[in-house]
Amino acid sequence: MSATSLARCSPIYYSCDACKCVSSSQNHQTSENRNLVTNRRFAKPNRLVLHNRSKKLNDPSLTRALREFADSGLMEDALHLFDEMNKADVFVWNVMIKGFTTCGLYHEALRLYRRMVFTGIKPDSFTFPFVIKSAAGASSLSQGKTVHAAVIKLGFDSDVYVCNSLISFYMKLGWAMDAEKVFDEMPERDVVSWNSIVYGFLAVGDGVRLLVMFKEMMRFGFEPDRFSIMSVLGACSHVDCLKMGKEIHCYAIRSGIEDVMVLTSVLDMYSRYSEVSYAERVFNGMSNRNIVAWNVMIGCYARNGRVVDAFLCFQKMSEEPDVITLINLLPACEEILEGRTVHGYATRRGFLPHVVLETALIDMYGESGKVKSAEIVFDRMGEKNLVSWNSMIAAYVQNGENYSALKLFQELWDGDSSSLVPDSTTFASILPAYAESLSLSEGRQLHAYVVKARYSSDTIVLNSLVHMYAMCGDLEDARKCFDQVVFKDVVSWNSIIMAYAVHGFGRISVCLFSEMITTSEVSPNKSTFASLLAACSISGLIDEGWEHFDSMKREYGIDPGIEHYVYMLDLIGRTGNLSSAKRFIEEMPVVPTARVWGSLLKASRNHNDITVAEFAAEQVLRIEHDNTGCYVLLLTMYSEAGRWEDVNRIKLLMKSQGVSKTTSCSTVVTRGRTHVFTNGDRSHVETNKIYDVLDIVSRMVEEEEDSYAHCVSKMRPETLLKKRGNSPRRHSVRLATCLGLISTETGRAVMVRNNTRICRRCHEFLEKASKVTRREIVVGDSKIFHHFSNGCCSCGNYW
Ligand SMILES: [Zn+2]
Ligand SMILES: [Zn+2]
Repeated sequence: MSATSLARCSPIYYSCDACKCVSSSQNHQTSENRNLVTNRRFAKPNRLVLHNRSKKLNDPSLTRALREFADSGLMEDALHLFDEMNKADVFVWNVMIKGFTTCGLYHEALRLYRRMVFTGIKPDSFTFPFVIKSAAGASSLSQGKTVHAAVIKLGFDSDVYVCNSLISFYMKLGWAMDAEKVFDEMPERDVVSWNSIVYGFLAVGDGVRLLVMFKEMMRFGFEPDRFSIMSVLGACSHVDCLKMGKEIHCYAIRSGIEDVMVLTSVLDMYSRYSEVSYAERVFNGMSNRNIVAWNVMIGCYARNGRVVDAFLCFQKMSEEPDVITLINLLPACEEILEGRTVHGYATRRGFLPHVVLETALIDMYGESGKVKSAEIVFDRMGEKNLVSWNSMIAAYVQNGENYSALKLFQELWDGDSSSLVPDSTTFASILPAYAESLSLSEGRQLHAYVVKARYSSDTIVLNSLVHMYAMCGDLEDARKCFDQVVFKDVVSWNSIIMAYAVHGFGRISVCLFSEMITTSEVSPNKSTFASLLAACSISGLIDEGWEHFDSMKREYGIDPGIEHYVYMLDLIGRTGNLSSAKRFIEEMPVVPTARVWGSLLKASRNHNDITVAEFAAEQVLRIEHDNTGCYVLLLTMYSEAGRWEDVNRIKLLMKSQGVSKTTSCSTVVTRGRTHVFTNGDRSHVETNKIYDVLDIVSRMVEEEEDSYAHCVSKMRPETLLKKRGNSPRRHSVRLATCLGLISTETGRAVMVRNNTRICRRCHEFLEKASKVTRREIVVGDSKIFHHFSNGCCSCGNYW
């Protein structure tokens, strides 16, 4: 078979390493450019041999010339010569196979190997490593397995070189088990065997096995090479193994393997662990830095909130910034101006369109609250991947545009515009939107999608489901999802502790916290303590609250943030000791926010101290002049005290600030349908029935008409007239509850959502109603969930 006939029957396209052309084998290398290549790069091959076609068998000079062609990558010439030979020995075949493999012509190499076996030439230990390498290069598992069978049959399975190439082959194709089997059965191993298996586990992404193998390797006294070191550093970054990473860093220093690539891997490892000072030390110690090192350092600063350092590093760069530089820099853009500057720079430098950079821009705009700008980038993207979709959904959710988020998710799910399938990140991004839109039935539907898409055992997705169910009022299903999490992380624990907290079951939250500390290896973080203190404050667990607040810094080294102070203040407020609450605010090491003063306002409202309330309200309005809740609380307090002039003053103030009272409305879902009620609402189709039920229940709870009349008597006549339609007895939450009572099956809790803080009289009504109707009533208001059962509420009458 001549060279041309071999080529003709295999019109493959390949990329040739020798002349860097991509071409079919028919027209690969015209004689003209072949000469050019030959003259330029290889003066050595004796071209005379080509013309002096010797018919002698295995002329040593012929073999030598063939070898020179093959070594120089001139495989067509080599093949020509090869075909001239009448009888080639195994050495010549090996030279040819090696030549093709080295040139990246894997299929040609495999074809030649098959021809060799067909001709009856026995391959040897030099043949197999190259044939196996070609099978790996051609990504052909079947051909590789055939060769492996031949290796065993001919007894080369104890040859260390052959086995090493088999390990690399199986690892490259992702068959780690087969690679490990070859490795385990090797009678002796060299450093390459160890390095191959270590590098292989990185390639298949099995960081744990990699680290185990690496430790074994060191134990057997084999010196890892720089590639193994880089593999292990890469694995340490993914497998939560900082200690090992540090050990490897020390090893690299000790053995002097400290080139720029190894150091960049060390830098990257520290950066992934957010060990900024370690990363900085490595970076500053690097004598020459490549673009990757600069990018890693910038990314490390940006991700860890070291905004100024990130930008300084960017300015100091000795290399030209590339796309990765900007992608890493974008998370540092806290100010929208910086973000827009980076966007502008990217446009000017012609880095756009670039799918990853555009996605990073969406994230940046989403986080800076510029959801419209994010949308523009998203809509203009020519190519969108799943990450881009997820980022856009997250941008909507972060900015409270839940409807747009749900719409975009639906579009992605239906797959009209792409063939992409939602993944765990998509679900984790979209689930908070369902929690916010308070729609349990839609949330359940999404849960069904999650199961269908087989993400129902994914920790991140389950954590979001716990949050969604809790926020939609279904504590039972939240708990079910939590119990399903096999690998519970800190977010899983925080979510369930917070779930019980907002539902007023603080004791369970506290128990869950102890369970977390004692049974899991997860350490609590800032959010854990926020959830825990929320639980103590909502349920009035005063001693436990103080205990955990103190232990936070003492035992866990966590400095309390503003959210922790707010919950503690709520806790102090509960006791009614308003002066100690005020002192607590004064002694706080952080600047009080409106939420802090709001907590004091709530406490003074609950303990009817109008002077402190006025002081607190003043502070709130100084920070947030349009805080509706604050005005409403003041209004209620003044009108209850009959201070009508103050009522008018506040009303005028509200008008001048453009603040209007939020229309209170309650929703209840029955048989998959959502019903919305406003105060005194009569628009529902079953309105007569609802009012009849309300009357019956009201009579059953024997509402103290007298106390109401007492309240009314203090009102001015014109207010009285207006108030009748807006009487607490016709408040939306009661209407929704009554519909719930008649349309949900007995034994199930009635679930009502209310967009404002539930009023005192309705709270009292619902407590009694839960007793006389023997039903559990759950009302989620703007802050917490009230579980009314047998005449009591889970909030302990403080909300
Ligand atoms: Zn009410
Ligand atoms: Zn309550």
